[in-house]
This record gives sequence, structure tokens and C-alpha cells, in this order.
Amino acid sequence: MIPGEFDYHSPQNLQEAVALLQQHGDDAKVLAGGQSLIPAMRFRLALPEVLIDINGIDGLEYVREDNGHLAIGAMTREVELEESAVVQQKFPLLADAARVIADPIVRNRATVGGNIAHADPANDHPAVMLAYGAEVIALGPSGTRAIAIDDFFVDLFENALTDNEILTEIRIPTPGANSGGAYVKVERKVGDYAISAVAVQLTMDRDVCTAVRIALTNVSAVPMRAKNAEAALQGKTITPETLEAAGQAAAAECDPSPDLRGSVAYKRDLTRVLVKRAVQKAVERASNR
Ligand SMILES: Cc1cc2nc3c(=O)[nH]c(=O)nc-3n(C[C@H](O)[C@H](O)[C@H](O)COP(=O)(O)OP(=O)(O)OC[C@H]3O[C@@H](n4cnc5c(N)ncnc54)[C@H](O)[C@@H]3O)c2cc1C
Repeated sequence: MIPGEFDYHSPQNLQEAVALLQQHGDDAKVLAGGQSLIPAMRFRLALPEVLIDINGIDGLEYVREDNGHLAIGAMTREVELEESAVVQQKFPLLADAARVIADPIVRNRATVGGNIAHADPANDHPAVMLAYGAEVIALGPSGTRAIAIDDFFVDLFENALTDNEILTEIRIPTPGANSGGAYVKVERKVGDYAISAVAVQLTMDRDVCTAVRIALTNVSAVPMRAKNAEAALQGKTITPETLEAAGQAAAAECDPSPDLRGSVAYKRDLTRVLVKRAVQKAVERASNR
């Protein structure tokens, strides 16, 4: 279908973009890669009266290590994550996810900021960032603020940004010694959203898991951490029994909907299996560091 009518603005800097957002309030939408927003407009699921295209703003595309964290500019395209040496070497959970987001054509346009701002539980970055304990940087009329990722996803397609704020950067803490992470996703075919996927970031002291964060993709209405699964591993020796307990906890606490990708029972059981696989892979990576 053809989208509804809208006014189009192409600000050249962030201040101009924020001023436009302030002027138009919730009638306006930021346009980043357009890979979620344009389809939603074509289906008339989104009917913004004003589009504020931030593709002309310089300085929002970067991936760099900075003061103990990885800083990712909001307009960084997925393909840049895939090709980043620092991501490959130090952020394997993010590297795993970057390879399985949509397909190469979408990844050339889609942005990391847009993926997170869209707050779609089917998107892969929300779970990845929840597992890392990332921070979102937002710019509004009164300046910049940092939002903990645990507070960012408010509801289905709803985030903690106010109407006049732009997401400018995502910060991922650099993992310490003996840490490992993994993202494991099952999709119907290459390029599809997950049936279920699991993000894990943990720290080991020999066989004992001393810190762990686990988050799930597309098995809840809001991107979620699997806190009962985390509790099943925290402070425990990793054995087949503790892995199974974590998998079962995640299967019980997720809340999938039945759809063409599968029944509720199937998605819960898949989540159980994927938690076990992702934790095992993360433990192997932690041991090799
Ligand atoms: C065929 C197809 C398959 C896909 N498969 C996957 C997949 O497997 N996994 C996955 O994770 N994603 C997938 N996607 C979604 C894709 O990754 C999207 O690009 C992403 O969800 C949104 O990024 P974008 O830059 O395109 O944002 P846009 O579509 O431009 O914007 C999305 C939303 O975020 C808001 N927004 C964007 N940037 C900002 C900002 N800086 N500040 C404030 N608000 C902002 C917009 O206003 C809009 O509401 C797929 C998309 C397609 C078309």
C-alpha cells in the first residue's frame, strides 16, 4: 500500500532535529534506516504527519571503544557491526547477533539505534543489549541523559524516550576477564525474525558462574530478561542439571504468542533448549579468554 500523506524534514544537525521534534510532538517520527517505519507506514500501522529524516546528520555512525565501554552511534548500520574488528574480538554476543539480523540488503540500511528505538520484541538488539546491561544515550531540549537498558523497553513498540528526544548512542560495558557471551537464534528461514532467540553474557570463576544476564527475543510482548533463569545459574557450578534448571526457568517465565512461527508450547520448549545452548557457548568462550 501507499503511505498516508506526511511532511518531510531533513535536519543537518541534532539541535535542528530536536527543535523539529519539539515543534511537532507526537505527530512526528524520526526516520533512520526506514526498514521498520516505512513498512509500518505502508501498512498504515503508522500514520505520522511529519517525518524527521536524520540520515543527513553527520557524526552518528561509529563503533569505538571509549573509557571502558563500546560506544555505538545511533545511525551505525548493521553491516558496520558485522565488519567491526573490535566487535568480533571483544563482543562475541554482539557479533553473533549482527550476523543473523534480517538479510544483507536490510543490514546495509538498518541502524542499531532504530532497532532499539523501535522496541519490537521480535528485533534482536533489545535482548542483546539487555544481556550486556547497556545504556542508551538520549538527547532532548534540555540536554543529554543516560537510560539504563533495563528501564528502556516500556511496552510493545514503546520506549522510554520522550516525544522530543532522539537516541544518539548505545554504550555496552566492556566485558571483564573470564567473561563470555553468545546469541543463539532459530528462525524459519534466513532473514526472518526469530521464532525464539537467547542472549547470554556471563562471568566465570573456574566452573562457577559469578555473574550472568540472560534475555529473550520474540517470546514476550516486551523485550525481557529471564531473571529466574539467571537465578538458576548465579553462584552455581555449571552442570547439565543447572543448565536444565535455567532452561526450564526461562521456558516458564517467557510469554510467547501462538502464530505462524509456532505454538506456545513449541516456543517455550525451544527457548528452554536455546538457553542451554547459549549458556554453554558463553561458558566455553569465557574459558578461552
Ligand atoms: C525483511 C526484514 C527483515 C527483518 N528482520 C529482522 C531481524 O531478523 N532482526 C531484527 O532485529 N530486525 C529485523 N528487521 C528490522 C530491521 O532491523 C529494522 O531496520 C530495525 O527494526 C529498525 O531500524 P531502522 O534504522 O530501519 O529504523 P526505522 O525504521 O527508521 O525506525 C524505526 C522506529 O524507531 C524510531 N527511531 C529510529 N531511530 C531513532 C533514533 N535515533 N531516535 C529516536 N527514535 C528513532 C523511528 O521513529 C521508528 O519509530 C527486519 C526488517 C525487514 C524489512
